[in-house]
Amino acid sequence: MIKYADIIRDSVVDGTGIRVVAFLQGCPRACEGCHNPALQPLEGGREAREEDFAERLLQELTPLHKGITFSGGEPLIQPEALLKVITILKERKPHLDIWVYTGFTFEQVKDLSVMKLIDVLVDGPFVLSARDLTLPFRGSANQRIIDVPRSLEKGEIVELHIG
Ligand code: SF4
Repeated sequence: MIKYADIIRDSVVDGTGIRVVAFLQGCPRACEGCHNPALQPLEGGREAREEDFAERLLQELTPLHKGITFSGGEPLIQPEALLKVITILKERKPHLDIWVYTGFTFEQVKDLSVMKLIDVLVDGPFVLSARDLTLPFRGSANQRIIDVPRSLEKGEIVELHIG
């Protein structure tokens, strides 16, 4: 089962292009200035079977969509459920662009199996003192937009410099 709060069909602020966004429920942090405090409680949200959740996400896609973003909350506290969901998505649409927002650093999560299926990871917690509204697709300057396949291949972080 996967715990989630909401699915948004058309976002242009959670990654490049038009994207379906899945907001997963629960986050163990309490960042000052958190953009989504309602998604912090681990006991909140709704539950769905991974197969059903993947199907719902696929149904939201149109030819205009570039990909699907997983945000939260903290998606990577459900790594096994997320692995199942993204595995189904990639089986059905191999070229689907998958972004994941996480409060963990890349170094902390790089060995998770699900990382092999993620295209872009926006990493690190939101830091209010580093908040910068001019940065595309992230809230604070400590967060990095990481090309996951190239980073895993090279064994070092490859950042995407967008905008
Ligand atoms: S990691 Fe994200 S969701 Fe979690 S408390 Fe920080 S800003 Fe909020």
